[in-house]
Amino acid sequence: MPRPALSSRSRARATSGARGATSGVPGALRTLGVRPSRRLGQNFLSDPRVAQRIVDLVSDPMEPVVEIGPGLGALTTLLARTGRPLVAVEVDFRLAEAQENILREWPAAGVVRGDILEQRLDTLIPGSAPVTIVGNLPYSITTPAIEWILAQGSRVRRAVLMVQREYAERLAAAPGGKEFGSLSVYVSLHAEVETLFRASPGAFYPRPDVDSVVLEMRPRPWPGSTEEERALVERLARAGMGTRRKTIANSLARGMDVESGRVRSLLERAAIEAERRAETVSVEEWIRLARVWSAEESRS
Ligand code: SAM
Repeated sequence: MPRPALSSRSRARATSGARGATSGVPGALRTLGVRPSRRLGQNFLSDPRVAQRIVDLVSDPMEPVVEIGPGLGALTTLLARTGRPLVAVEVDFRLAEAQENILREWPAAGVVRGDILEQRLDTLIPGSAPVTIVGNLPYSITTPAIEWILAQGSRVRRAVLMVQREYAERLAAAPGGKEFGSLSVYVSLHAEVETLFRASPGAFYPRPDVDSVVLEMRPRPWPGSTEEERALVERLARAGMGTRRKTIANSLARGMDVESGRVRSLLERAAIEAERRAETVSVEEWIRLARVWSAEESRS
């Protein structure tokens, strides 16, 4: 059934949440009849200074942008008004419809209704121009959204993302630290990540329980590595770190279903001590192990 268009009055009120004055989030939600959904990670940015800081990071005014989850448009309008190609993908149809009405003013900007994870960048922005991804990411899809970006990394110039602070710490963690895990290895294999600034819970409505940070992620393959090596490192790191506190030899034997003596010999050839915990192994060492591992696999 076609949805009724917003009346011009309610459109103006819904828009006021986005025209740089993000302070009216509760009012804009009431107007649209939307109760923030935890499942959809709907913590809307309510501090216009934070919105402006994020948008300022996308400095080229004509750079094509895909926004993940425009919500009430705190970032969307600021991004659209330079006239750049902008596609905002929103899964909540009520919010998507409100954004469609607002973005009519900028012909190069538009909304796609749907789940970002079911889209392809090449369909959202056809052509070969590098795309910047912007998003105050819904918590529930942070990892899948990052995987979605990195799987299409050759099309992505960079991603400017708001994520929970603890999550950013996991991405940026160094080997041996308690935050270092297979996610840190995976992201290091495919991108450079830089944490830029922090936003307190008071910058959002409703207030989340935790701090957030804005980070920039620039896709690039780990220098000198092949696609096959990176894929094998992902499998090895997931298997190795699947059971924390075990030695790398034991967790790899179990996780990769390979006989323990053989794992120990491969580790030795990669100059990694069998008794170490997998969380202490650096990306360079995982790559070394992947090379030894695949050489052995192709012999047998
Ligand atoms: N960008 C807005 C802001 O900064 O105020 C909203 C951010 S809010 C944290 C996350 C937004 O993503 C919500 O509007 C939510 O409906 C939307 N969203 C959640 N899951 C999504 C998905 N799978 N695909 C697209 N949008 C999604």
